[in-house]
Amino acid sequence: MPPYEAAYGWLNSQSAQAPRSQSDSIEVLPVQGNVHLIAGAGGNIAVQIGDDGVLLVDSGAAEMSAQVLSAIRRLSDRPIRYVLNTHLHADHIGGNAAIAAAGASLGAARALQGAEITAHENVLLRLSKPGATPLPYAALPTATYFTDEKDFSFNAEAVVLMHAPAAHTDGDTMVFFRSSDVISTGDLFVTTAFPVIDAENGGTLQGIVTALNQVLKIAVPRQNQEGGTVIVPGHGRLCDEHEVLEYRDMLVIIRDRIRDLVGRGASLDEVKRARPTLDYDARYGAETGPSTTAAFVEAVYRELSKSRASN
Ligand SMILES: [Zn+2]
Repeated sequence: MPPYEAAYGWLNSQSAQAPRSQSDSIEVLPVQGNVHLIAGAGGNIAVQIGDDGVLLVDSGAAEMSAQVLSAIRRLSDRPIRYVLNTHLHADHIGGNAAIAAAGASLGAARALQGAEITAHENVLLRLSKPGATPLPYAALPTATYFTDEKDFSFNAEAVVLMHAPAAHTDGDTMVFFRSSDVISTGDLFVTTAFPVIDAENGGTLQGIVTALNQVLKIAVPRQNQEGGTVIVPGHGRLCDEHEVLEYRDMLVIIRDRIRDLVGRGASLDEVKRARPTLDYDARYGAETGPSTTAAFVEAVYRELSKSRASN
């Protein structure tokens, strides 16, 4: 099963994923500078290491925590200090409790309580709402922010958390490692599928496009549009700025096609039959699984119909 499907299984079922087979192993790769990637444990995990300790962007799926911890130990024997959460989906924060418990925060008062778990406040608000899928208390963010940005220095590097409003969800955080020149996007950018627009949790296509534009503003290519800033997607392989540009352009093209159809009064079925994603389906399309082309088109259709009605 492609990692993306495995990671998103829960979106449909809200239940535990089937256990992964022993042959599914996780991969550890250098990204650039102080940053490494742990892949295959659910969503991508970016790991920044140095003398101050270990900082993670996301914690993977719960059942992969033991493998994630051993992968971290292969990179560094320093304490795990921070777990940053890009958003609330279980394939990205499922390891929060186990991995934070293995660490120790820098704050003296919290020294015995494990690593700090940091997220945008909308993540905590949604996770602690009555009726939300219950998470152990130890998995919840221990520090939140509500501003556009939050930054701090760790391992002699500026780490910048950027809120991407109403993108994949309404609590999305992108993380920019300024000296390493690496941006971790969470699921508002993936290389494996059309984006999931989690409208129930406040996601919108417009927010995804806005966030991708922000990545493009920050990223700087090396010569010939290759290399330079490295982008770590929520799922899939490492990218450069140009690949983000192509993904952004694709989303804008598909959005404009659907907007045109909506403007002419097309129904959802008519929009689907017009196949507005056709030229991208070979690369990103899926007919089954939780991140289908149909779900993507439907989410865009609903968003554009709503904004048309309110204009
Ligand atoms: Zn997600």
